Amino acid sequence: MPELPEVETTRRGIRGALRGRHIVELVVREPRLRWRIDASLPALLTGRIVRDVRRRAKYLLIDLEGGTLILHLGMSGSLRVLAPATTLLPHDHYDLLVDSGRCLRFNDPRRFGSLHWVAGDASEHPLLAGLGPEPLESGFDADYLVARARRRKVAIKQFLMDQKIVVGVGNIYASEALHRAGINPRRAAGRIARPRYEALVGAIRQVLGEAIRQGGTTLRDYVNADGTPGYFRQKLYVYERTGKPCRRCHTPIRQIVQGQRSTYFCPRCQT
Ligand SMILES: [Zn+2]
Repeated sequence: MPELPEVETTRRGIRGALRGRHIVELVVREPRLRWRIDASLPALLTGRIVRDVRRRAKYLLIDLEGGTLILHLGMSGSLRVLAPATTLLPHDHYDLLVDSGRCLRFNDPRRFGSLHWVAGDASEHPLLAGLGPEPLESGFDADYLVARARRRKVAIKQFLMDQKIVVGVGNIYASEALHRAGINPRRAAGRIARPRYEALVGAIRQVLGEAIRQGGTTLRDYVNADGTPGYFRQKLYVYERTGKPCRRCHTPIRQIVQGQRSTYFCPRCQT
């Protein structure tokens, strides 16, 4: 599933091809995504200029004059920039053509992706309202986490994966960041001291930052005509390493289930 680093890498990959361009046409081949693409959308978009391409959580925001397109890649979606005449693949559901003669093509075998238009301020759209801060931006720090965690008994792993607390820290990155910060994933969020939250914020920024940098090297997978989306080959310390030696202390990595998701941790390094 595309996580925050893949979405950010996609944003960087498509932004240059879209920004400052006028939309020529939206071609919808399959409107039945997670939510049906509004039939009025093609007529609404034609002729508008693209101001910018931003990201909020795992949503891509294409800012146009008068409103914003909100895209989600779902479980299996990917975007490529290519010539509109490029042979269609199965699951190529829509093309957004711009006046440079190129198009943004969306492919999604499982059709959990989405495409919405919002007039005015996108941050007030129901998909985006109520989301927590971005982990790589300044509002996310130890003071913030300490305040939100006060008296909370929920396990820190699930606390981190709550999009109302912070966005984009998925299962892989939560496990990896907790290992780097030396925090047991079962520990109650309200029973973690401030210095440990400082270490955790640093660890989250580090694992996400590394994945984004790694993504830069596979960027062409997202923009080439024949590329299939690549997932990042980041060096993982605990994720899916059950029974293998901890890279720090050689204790076998343990796997538990929290909130129907697997958690991986080192019982010695993480207390
Ligand atoms: Zn260890």
